[in-house]
Amino acid sequence: MFSDLTEKLNDIFKVIKSKGVITEKDLDNALREIKFALLEADVNYKVVKDFTKELKEELKGKELEKSLTPGQIVVEEVHKKLTEILGGQAQPLTITKTPFIIMLVGLQGSGKTTTAAKLAKFLRSKGRQPLLVACDIYRPAAIKQLQILGKQINIDVFSKENSKPEDIAKEALNYAKQNGKNVIIIDTAGRLHIDDELMEELERIKQKIEPDEILFVADAMIGQEAVNVAKVFDERVGITGAIFTKLDGDARGGAALSIMKVVGKPIKFAGVGEKISDFEPFYPDRVASRILGMGDVLTLIEKVRETENEKEAKELARKLKKQQFSLDDFLNQLKKIQKMGSIAKIIQMIPGMNKVKIDDEESFNKEIKHIEAIILSMTKEERQNYKILNASRKRRIAKGSGTRVSDVNRLIKQFIEMNKMMKGMNKSKAFNLMKRLGI
Ligand code: GDP
Repeated sequence: MFSDLTEKLNDIFKVIKSKGVITEKDLDNALREIKFALLEADVNYKVVKDFTKELKEELKGKELEKSLTPGQIVVEEVHKKLTEILGGQAQPLTITKTPFIIMLVGLQGSGKTTTAAKLAKFLRSKGRQPLLVACDIYRPAAIKQLQILGKQINIDVFSKENSKPEDIAKEALNYAKQNGKNVIIIDTAGRLHIDDELMEELERIKQKIEPDEILFVADAMIGQEAVNVAKVFDERVGITGAIFTKLDGDARGGAALSIMKVVGKPIKFAGVGEKISDFEPFYPDRVASRILGMGDVLTLIEKVRETENEKEAKELARKLKKQQFSLDDFLNQLKKIQKMGSIAKIIQMIPGMNKVKIDDEESFNKEIKHIEAIILSMTKEERQNYKILNASRKRRIAKGSGTRVSDVNRLIKQFIEMNKMMKGMNKSKAFNLMKRLGI
């Protein structure tokens, strides 16, 4: 997600953090480069302009010249502003009534059908009873696709032949009421381009069933066009939020960074891969952290919670809180990540690991084997306290693991970096997390 932007911003921060004093010229240079980086990531021009202008004003008021860590202040301010343009406070999907009706709209190929299934599975994991509804009557393949996905995740799909979409939606509503389904997710038809006929159809469905949420599904790969299309859907049908798909891969992500400011609607979820589990609620501050290469420990813990058990997630949170994360835990975490799948995505959530490039899972698995061999060649004491690793110990470990001393050094460096990042984790965030996990 946003990897090019992350790389560029990190380069800019590296320069600015290396300065003991930041002059106005340094700041102007950095702001200009931030501007280019955002434009290159395809963020809307006006959004970029406002972003840098406001950032400059904020930073002027911070009296950077009086600070001992002026670079850090710049980074924090960029984080704050990024969070703001991504929507500020998270606005999660809140189910307020039964049955709760969610209608997904968007262009063909944006990922609506896949997202419908992802959302259904997500809501079921939160204790809901979802029903999927196939209203894309023009493409039999779309109905079939939803049925296949529904079967795969064991969630009912309502469909009907020779009926109008609005009638299917209405009947699905009755079916849901009679069958104890408390959330309805409607997959509507899309077109390659916006056309009147499609909009009218969506309006009719809306009128007939009065959805609680109309979520615009946007393909992040199409860039700014996604924002323009969102605007039209909002004007015609009225959307309540957006789901960005394909935020994995090469998407520059600028559309996701522009939609809140341009259309004024929050992003509720992000699709980050083709698998049904590649789906996350969208938290602006966490995404801002990821863009800035600070990792996203909170989402990582939630992922552990989904795949592992509650006890392990609590233990991980406790260790993070007490900063007792050892090399053993590091290895454990990496192995769990291996099990969770989608390694490339998850690894980015670990603070300090955003620079690890994963070209293919196979080489990553090899890398984990290396790390495992190195850590297992250490004594228990060394694993708990890497600081005792002197040159001769490192030579022994390298020999024992069939690696080189430089590999051992690299691993230690990564581990130190990660610990440093975790220490920098916002205290209130950590506290909130503990509270949520009941610690
Ligand atoms: P629809 O026409 O809007 O219903 O789109 P589909 O759900 O059929 O998705 C179109 C293509 O996008 C499919 O090949 C999906 O597998 C793919 N897709 C959907 N969401 C994502 C995502 O988050 N990441 C990636 N990489 N592919 C996705």
